[in-house]
Amino acid sequence: MGKRILVLGGGVGGVVAAKRLAERLRGRVDAEITLISDTDYYLLPPLLVNIALGDLDPAQAQLPLSILSKRGVKVVKASVTKVDPDNRVVETSQGKFNYDYLIASLGVEHDFKSYNLGVGYHNFTLDGALKLREALRNFKGGSVVIFTPEPIYRCGVYPFEIVSQLDTIFRKRGIRDKVELTLIHPFERPIQPLGPEAVKITEETFAHKGIRYIGNARPLEVDDKNKVVVITADKVKYDLLIVVPPARLPKPFDGTPLAVDLPNGRWTVVDVYTGRSIKYDDVYLPGEHSMPSIGLPTAGVPVHFTALASAGAVAGELLGEPIDPAQITAMACAMDYGDFGLMFNCDIKLDLKDNKALWINNCYSILTSPLGKLIKDLFYKTWLQTTM
Ligand SMILES: Cc1cc2nc3c(=O)[nH]c(=O)nc-3n(C[C@H](O)[C@H](O)[C@H](O)COP(=O)(O)OP(=O)(O)OC[C@H]3O[C@@H](n4cnc5c(N)ncnc54)[C@H](O)[C@@H]3O)c2cc1C
Repeated sequence: MGKRILVLGGGVGGVVAAKRLAERLRGRVDAEITLISDTDYYLLPPLLVNIALGDLDPAQAQLPLSILSKRGVKVVKASVTKVDPDNRVVETSQGKFNYDYLIASLGVEHDFKSYNLGVGYHNFTLDGALKLREALRNFKGGSVVIFTPEPIYRCGVYPFEIVSQLDTIFRKRGIRDKVELTLIHPFERPIQPLGPEAVKITEETFAHKGIRYIGNARPLEVDDKNKVVVITADKVKYDLLIVVPPARLPKPFDGTPLAVDLPNGRWTVVDVYTGRSIKYDDVYLPGEHSMPSIGLPTAGVPVHFTALASAGAVAGELLGEPIDPAQITAMACAMDYGDFGLMFNCDIKLDLKDNKALWINNCYSILTSPLGKLIKDLFYKTWLQTTM
C-alpha cells in the first residue's frame, strides 16, 4: 500500500503544501494525497478586505478545491474535530482518517467572545465581510472605531491598512468631514514591529489623513449599550465599530500534545526549518497556529513558505532525496494605505539553535507610492489564480 499523506485545511498552507507534494511525488512514488477541509472552496482571506470595501464579489475571491483533483489530490469536505498523533488518526465529521504523514494548516480561531467583540463588525470571515460591506454602504457619518485589543491577530498590518483605506473611501464619497476615524491598538506606536521607517511613514500618513491613533491601549471591553470602547482611563465613543479579534489555537489541536502553553499564548510548536512538529516526526504543522511559536507573524506569507518547506521535507523523505531547504529567508510585506501602498522587505535569519525566525529590526522600505497599492492588489488577485 502507498503512503497516505493527509493535508488538513484548504487555505493558504494546505493548498500550497498539497500542490507542492503532488508536483514532487506524482508518478515517482506510490503515495495518496488527501486534503480535508470544511469548505469545498479555497478563499484567499486578504481579499475579504476587497469584498468588505465593495470592489470584489465573493465569487472572485475563491476557487473550488476540486481543481486540485487534476493534480491527483483527493479532496474531502469534512470538519476536523480532533488530531490524535499518538494513533496517527484524524477524527472528522465524515469519520476517521489514518495517515503516514500529516500536514495541518487550520488557520486560527477568531475570538469574538473576549472584550464583547461580538457586537462589532469585522472582515475575518466571508459572512463578516458581507455584513461590514452593508454597514459601510449605509454609513452616513459619525465616529468609526477600529478596535484591536491584543497583539496577536490574523495579519499584523491589517488594522493600519483598513483605517487608512476607510479615510480614502469616505473622501471619495464626500463624507470625510462628517467622520472621525480612530484606531485603538496595543502597540505604543503604529506598526511598530516593522521598525522606525514604517512607523514614521504610518504616523505621517495618519496625521495627514486625520486619523486618531490610541496606542499602548489596555482594553477592558466594548460597552454596546453606551456605544463605547472602554480602555483603562478612557472611553472611546463609536457609531460604527470594527473589531480585530485575537487569534487563538484551532479546536482540533486543543488538549493534544501538539499544543504547548507559551508566553504569547497556546500554540502548536514546530521546527522553524521544516514546519515539522517538535514531538512527532510524521506531523507537520505549517499553519498560522504555529507561527507565534517560532517568532513569525500570523500571516499568509510565512505560512506559504513554511508549507513549502514542510512539503519539501515530506517529499524528500519519500523520494530518498535531501530535504528541500526552501525555508523562508525574507518576508515581503505590502500595505495598502488607500491612496498609496508601501512595500517592505524583512530579511529573516533562522536561528536553528533557539528555533526562531528573527526578523524584527531587519525590515526596510522598498517602495512607497500609488504603484505599491497596485502591486499588492495584483499580487493577491494573481496569487489566487496561480497557486492552485
Ligand atoms: C482581512 C485579511 C487580510 C489579510 N491580509 C494579509 C496580507 O496582506 N498578507 C498576508 O501575508 N496575510 C494576510 N492575511 C492573513 C492570511 O490570510 C492568513 O495568515 C493565512 O490564510 C493563514 O493560512 P492557513 O493555511 O494557516 O489558514 P487559512 O488560509 O485560513 O486556511 C485554513 C483552512 O482550514 C479550514 N479549516 C479550519 N478549521 C477547520 C476544521 N476544523 N476542519 C476542516 N477545515 C478547517 C478553513 O476553512 C480554511 O480552508 C489576511 C487575512 C485577513 C482576514
